[in-house]
Amino acid sequence: MSASPAHVPASDRLAKPDTANDLVAAVWPASADREDDGIVRIGGVPVTELKERFGTPLYVLDETEVRARARRTRAAFDAAAAEHGTTAEVYYAGKAFLSTEVVRWVTQEGLAVDVSTGGELAVALAAGTDPVRIGFHGNNKSTAEISRAVEVGVGSIVIDSDAEIARVAEAAAARGIVQSVRLRVNSGVHAETHDFLATAHEDQKFGFPLARAVEVVGRIRELPSLRFDGLHCHIGSQIFGVAGFRESAARLVEVHAQLLSGGPVPVLNLGGGFGIAYTSADDPTPIEELADGIVGAVAGECAERGIALPSLAVEPGRSIVGPAGVTLYEVGTVKPVQATDELRRLYVSVDGGMSDNARPALYGAQYSARVVSRASDAEPALARVVGKHCESGDIVVEAEYLPGDVAPGDLLAVPATGAYCFSLASNYNYIPRPPVVAVAEGSARVIVRGESIDDLLARDAGISSTEGTE
Ligand code: PLP
Repeated sequence: MSASPAHVPASDRLAKPDTANDLVAAVWPASADREDDGIVRIGGVPVTELKERFGTPLYVLDETEVRARARRTRAAFDAAAAEHGTTAEVYYAGKAFLSTEVVRWVTQEGLAVDVSTGGELAVALAAGTDPVRIGFHGNNKSTAEISRAVEVGVGSIVIDSDAEIARVAEAAAARGIVQSVRLRVNSGVHAETHDFLATAHEDQKFGFPLARAVEVVGRIRELPSLRFDGLHCHIGSQIFGVAGFRESAARLVEVHAQLLSGGPVPVLNLGGGFGIAYTSADDPTPIEELADGIVGAVAGECAERGIALPSLAVEPGRSIVGPAGVTLYEVGTVKPVQATDELRRLYVSVDGGMSDNARPALYGAQYSARVVSRASDAEPALARVVGKHCESGDIVVEAEYLPGDVAPGDLLAVPATGAYCFSLASNYNYIPRPPVVAVAEGSARVIVRGESIDDLLARDAGISSTEGTE
């Protein structure tokens, strides 16, 4: 595997720009725009107004962008499937960002919803999603979660282990229904950013080895309360190009074809993982190209084996919400640091950090940043944006050129934070989680309330019991 741009130290890959005011189109929501007053608008709302009304840190989600991405993904897969005489379902992977509003946006745009826990299922249901359009996966669903999913009538449950076969069958039998199930398999293909790796063996917690699929599906088919619907696979996240999906499709269709001798196999779910641009170094594959490549690969493999093309399903999360999100912070301190003899940079501390965006600390994820409350003619300076947590690894943006006069009170925005930031947020250091504000056509509204310190104290049983004895 070769090093991808994301693995090159960010300070080495960055070239010093003439100004640090530009918003790189691929990384920001389409609506983001710096106007003549130097203030950036997102969804038509000035960031200064957002700060005034909702405070910082603040997750800002561009509704128009989420809807457009959902629509475009759906259209791309519909078109690619129609070209080969089949259909495709796009599930929104709720783990990327889940709230009732977002579920309503994507379902109104024609997407189904993929959930992985009882909590995510509850949000999808609270949003009014038709349960038939919900898929439920996960490697350790509790019996209570399975019962609830069966009871409400979710469209499919993805079986992930031997133990789950009986659990789902019993839950369905107890209600006198036949539950559609899919089987999570590992194709041995692992895709990560610009590269993929194909292996014969798996050492991970999800699903079944492909080699066991025929035997396991045979057992599922013997159970009258289960209906086998098809294979389900997910090869990784932040994937660029179609090569990994192509390899995975070849392996999956081979087994899909074998399963046809035992009964119908109406669906093949190839998972999510479509990459987005976090920085200008990322060049994601357009969704139409991915859809054509994925559907075309499955169609080609089916044609080679003389079998009918099944209905297809995919379940992207990041590519739907990631580029629609921007996190807004206020700068608190700016500290010049001589990192090495050659390297001097500004440490720009903001009022959030790893509690609202765990990805840099978890995965070494790269982001970019801009001062958004004003434009500046100051010479760009190499900066590292850090949070306020008691952790030296509390880095928000490892390296970025910011205006050399960046100062306390400036608003700083980090784009491409719509996916896996809110959903991975914590209360580390007793920092309340920020609200989520949706912006569209010049207006802004809270779609997830922020926490207060009182909310956090309310969980402390010591405080409650003291109050209780008064
Ligand atoms: N489906 C499954 C089974 C997953 O595990 C994931 C993410 O890990 C997704 C879909 C969504 O991936 P992404 O948000 O990268 O599209």
